Amino acid sequence: MNIHEYQAKEILRKYGVAVPDGHVTYNSASARDWAKRLGDGPWVLKAQIHAGGRGKGGGVKLAHTPDEVKRIAREMIGMTLVTPQTGPEGKIVKRILVEKGSRIARELYVSLLVDRGTSKVTLMASTEGGMDIEEVAEKTPEKILKEPIDPLIGLAPFQCRKIAFALGLEGKQVNQAVQLLGGLYKAFIESDCSLLEVNPLVVTAEGDLIALDAKLNFDDNALFRHRLIRDMRDYDEEDPFEIEATQYDLSYIALDGNIGCLVNGAGLAMATMDIIKHYGGEPANFLDVGGGATIERVTEAFKLILSDEKVKGILVNIFGGIMRCDFIATGIIEAAKQVGITVPLVVRLEGTNVEKGKRLLAESGLNIVTADGMADAAEKIVKAVKG
Ligand code: GDP
Ligand code: MN
Repeated sequence: MNIHEYQAKEILRKYGVAVPDGHVTYNSASARDWAKRLGDGPWVLKAQIHAGGRGKGGGVKLAHTPDEVKRIAREMIGMTLVTPQTGPEGKIVKRILVEKGSRIARELYVSLLVDRGTSKVTLMASTEGGMDIEEVAEKTPEKILKEPIDPLIGLAPFQCRKIAFALGLEGKQVNQAVQLLGGLYKAFIESDCSLLEVNPLVVTAEGDLIALDAKLNFDDNALFRHRLIRDMRDYDEEDPFEIEATQYDLSYIALDGNIGCLVNGAGLAMATMDIIKHYGGEPANFLDVGGGATIERVTEAFKLILSDEKVKGILVNIFGGIMRCDFIATGIIEAAKQVGITVPLVVRLEGTNVEKGKRLLAESGLNIVTADGMADAAEKIVKAVKG
């Protein structure tokens, strides 16, 4: 799960990380009030969308008077912001962050991420802040410093100092870096982040270190123990099908292809996508209905797939272990009754109550192609979709 910059800064502030004073708002008059309350200008107005590169798209603007804050806020709220990360369709700005402006001397980069290679959380840093870090990594990889963190010891102060010196920090900035990086690490671990990025981390004209931008991603599987973070979720920023799926505890990820998949078990779902590709098709989604799915959940899963206009055919691939094949069959029939199935449907059932499941489908009067085994099923659906 992702959150907005202002929410990320709220979290980091709790961990003693220096961030600019600011406030989120939804309308231009209150943007102006907040600016006045924050003290003297200039102020920065920042569009809150779940995408970076806002600076380049006109989503980060400086204002020098309260009236200018109001004027810029009015333009920004409701605008469709296109950045290198939003895709050409852009995103509508609904909230903005009004912040006390900083005078920037240097822009640096720091992030924490889970490095699968070393199985450790790794601190990354670079003197090339404010830039697209992927580009820095590609063109000048030597400018990216990496510091793997021992999970038992945590981020040690000597590691922070090492990074601070490598970034060219001096005097009080070194101690500020130790505190700031330590705070970032603590926030990362305690919030179960999968990514934490501060780009840019700036040295101000006054010589202080401050996190000017902040991005946090969380491990969805740990969200159950972070109620406050879970409540920060902004549904406007997410795929509507994926939102619908979470209401029914379905693991659903939208993809670009046209074959809808309803599968139980993540491993079988992955294998199903592979075999569809093997036969020259493209899956429209990853969908794991889970082991102990109810008829209602299967019905909702099926409706979800059907509501996606890209879907030109559906492959149901179920191995009934805990899940009973007759439940799946009932779910399919129920969904078909509620929304109607207008695309080819191939079903492969195996396992508990398979005979009963097949009989239910056969007697349902639905136009279903049954398949024996995964290869047969994949071949049939790919053929049906290609017409
Ligand atoms: P992003 O483009 O979405 O990553 O948004 P950022 O928050 O990183 O802002 C982009 C750029 O705007 C930064 O790299 C800075 O150069 C500039 N910027 C942001 N806040 C301030 C500020 O308070 N003062 C000044 N002078 N520039 C700022
Ligand atoms: Mn940034």
